Amino acid sequence: MTEKKGRVFSGARPTGRQHLGNYLGAIKNYVALQGDYRTVYCVVDIHALTTVETTRELALNTQEMTLDWLAAGIDPEKSIIFVQSHVPEVMELHTILSMVTPLGKLTALPTFKEKVRDNPDNVNYGLVGYPVLMSADILLYKADLVPVGTDQIPHLEFAREVVRSFNHRYETNILVEPQAKVTQIPKVVGIDGERKMSKSLDNHIELAATPEETEKRIMSMVTDPQRMRRDDPGNPDVCNVFSLHKIFSSEEEVEEINRECRKAGIGCVDCKRKLAANLNQHLVPFRAKREELSRDPNIVRDVLEDGAKRAKVIASETMSEVREAIGFYGARE
Ligand code: ADP
Repeated sequence: MTEKKGRVFSGARPTGRQHLGNYLGAIKNYVALQGDYRTVYCVVDIHALTTVETTRELALNTQEMTLDWLAAGIDPEKSIIFVQSHVPEVMELHTILSMVTPLGKLTALPTFKEKVRDNPDNVNYGLVGYPVLMSADILLYKADLVPVGTDQIPHLEFAREVVRSFNHRYETNILVEPQAKVTQIPKVVGIDGERKMSKSLDNHIELAATPEETEKRIMSMVTDPQRMRRDDPGNPDVCNVFSLHKIFSSEEEVEEINRECRKAGIGCVDCKRKLAANLNQHLVPFRAKREELSRDPNIVRDVLEDGAKRAKVIASETMSEVREAIGFYGARE
């Protein structure tokens, strides 16, 4: 086996069944990185507590998201897949890192301001500390590389600053500065043709939906808003259906649609039908694998248990070094 290049860490909140945005913006990349890196993928259920109203569906969402990850090709033989709360060392590191974190830095982050805007009645302490917990995740596993969307770049920069502060204060070099690996498709737009695809906006297309449901969602997609009637020429450059064609359709088809749309040679209905057919075709192996996996009631539990064990080995080692660097009583024996 060839030597792997370094460690990759990525976490995602348990949002249940995954959609095309998650797939193109994150999961595909997770799968691709497995060959070259030591990959660690985490369902960050503690992070989820900052915004959830109820935890009734937390366990089910973890189960469903993990099933999608596995069906999409995240391979437990190649990657560590685990649940954040199963390795509680992250909370210890979070507390320790919070002591080298100026509060002003946290409240100045654009993501914090956004969260406050979105949840004005629930500005909890955890929300302010979200990037500290995220740093703890990354640093606990000594990740060299973190795949992120552009909106997460400030958090990564923040994590790097935390490393410098910690290493400086405790005169050590045990924590590693992670590098951001910006994902190629940072924003998949939803079926409203406007906003980022997201479950909470109900503008998403689920990977595990049936072919019929998928077609129905695609038929309701908003296209070029200037194109009012079938005879009007369209502009593929502003059409989200066309953006998805570029991902899921053949080069010839993309060329044809690009040409025909501009002279009203193809209408939006036919264009969407083609997209639905191609996307459904693309998802055949995913859906078959998901179906097969969901027949085994223990598979997710077993994968996550094994993942937590492997993650814990790395976490315990880092925490011993951290405690030693700080000089807690008994840590240096
Ligand atoms: P989290 O808050 O944990 O990032 P999300 O469900 O919002 O949870 O996202 C999980 C992953 O999927 C993230 O890496 C995110 O960047 C990616 N993602 C989610 N929605 C989209 C989208 N519409 N376009 C591109 N990437 C997306």
